[in-house]
Amino acid sequence: MKSIKEYEFWFITGSQHLYGEETLKQVAKDSEVIVSALNKSGTLPCNIVYKPTVKTPDEVTKMFKDAAYDDKCAGVITWMHTFSPSKMWINGLKNFKKPYCHFHTQYNREIPWNDIDMDFMNLNQSAHGDREHGFIGSRLRMQRKVIVGYWEDADVRKKLSDWMRTACGYMVSQSLKMCRFGDNMRQVAVTEGDKVEAEIKFGWDIEYRPVGDLVEILNAVTEEEIDTKIAEYKTRYEMDTEAEEAVRYQAKEEIAIRKMCDKYGYRAFVTNFEDLHGLCQLPGIAAQNMMMDGYGFGAEGDWKVAAMDAIMKAMSEGMNGGTAFMEDYTYHFEKGNEHILGAHMLEVCPLIAANKPKIQVHELGIGDRQPPARLVFDSKDGDAIVASLVDMGGRMRLIVNDIKACNPLKPMPKLPVAGVMWKPMPDLATSAECWIMAGGAHHSVLSYDVTAEMLHDWANMMGIEFVHINERTTVPDMEKELLYNDIAYKLK
Ligand code: MN
Repeated sequence: MKSIKEYEFWFITGSQHLYGEETLKQVAKDSEVIVSALNKSGTLPCNIVYKPTVKTPDEVTKMFKDAAYDDKCAGVITWMHTFSPSKMWINGLKNFKKPYCHFHTQYNREIPWNDIDMDFMNLNQSAHGDREHGFIGSRLRMQRKVIVGYWEDADVRKKLSDWMRTACGYMVSQSLKMCRFGDNMRQVAVTEGDKVEAEIKFGWDIEYRPVGDLVEILNAVTEEEIDTKIAEYKTRYEMDTEAEEAVRYQAKEEIAIRKMCDKYGYRAFVTNFEDLHGLCQLPGIAAQNMMMDGYGFGAEGDWKVAAMDAIMKAMSEGMNGGTAFMEDYTYHFEKGNEHILGAHMLEVCPLIAANKPKIQVHELGIGDRQPPARLVFDSKDGDAIVASLVDMGGRMRLIVNDIKACNPLKPMPKLPVAGVMWKPMPDLATSAECWIMAGGAHHSVLSYDVTAEMLHDWANMMGIEFVHINERTTVPDMEKELLYNDIAYKLK
């Protein structure tokens, strides 16, 4: 699986020949200092590549053409140290589709009160050069991120880092291949969607493979391969069952699914408990252990949530909060302490575990297969989000809710699955009313690392609708927003 560290970002400084050689030399030098400091900060997920200052329309056009066709380049960061007339950017920008960040910073932090003269003023012109640059982005109706602030500040670097992670999410999305082992669950609406539209909008190649093809690979898995996988389970998890054969069967399933994913380059997959022909167990720990390694997963054939899981896991690579496929399961309606209990019949991602997950085997109350092995654990406390992508017919909508996640409020000794509880913002009643009105699914991706702002930027990069339920949300405002969005998208 490709790491996001393999991507890079181009830092493009704009200027013009009017300033003369001396000033342009200084512009180039200052840009290199900024790029080098950003790379050395250790806070960015990928390397930034310094590019020579662009000073003519031809140079701008060539730069963006090269950036568009460079597979490693996940986006560009532009900055105007001096004034760069932005008509010369039109041909370069108008065909550029990759993520684009306008970094509105300035080389010096403070005004040098005693020394400032007109030479200084003519060199340090970001305050007006970047306004000229901003206009052409708006005039071209370009989706872009504007980051404002001093380049040495930690909060500014965090914004840049989050945007770079989001841009990597754009790149991962554009090349995402995924596998459906089984169709959507019979008669379920919200997990359905237009796969052609998804490939046009997001780049997803969503392929179907019959479970029989997987069973064929599974039947050829050797005992030695299973021994190795069980040894891995024992380093990661605690064995808490006597039913070792059931665990070995899950190991066998995981090995087969991984072989299929490796063969075709799948980064996400779905299962469906209604479609297990030839499999003896619904994949439990098999799916969970793959999610732990960054594979996206969706249950009941939910390919949209599987793809979002894979993308958000990629966006948060190397962070330590965790990102997981999730389902709103049961409410706790205690007055003043309302919470949602999230879980799934088996497949909760161990990346969000607060303790070492236990391998257990229990009956599954649904379907007609053998009791599957699964990982059972409690989850972390912390600020997080849940996200749901739905197909509104003619357009995709991404719904995000800010939440405070926590370890289950009390022990639940009889619950045979992993779980996480959360208090949705602004409160359960408002959140659930808005989520339901927006058409949000019961399946979601929960993340302690990816923020609502990152997903908002991602939705902008993809050109889809974004709805955010947060601590300031009210039901009447949400009603209006959904109505206005409907009208706006009809006009598009
Ligand atoms: Mn489900």
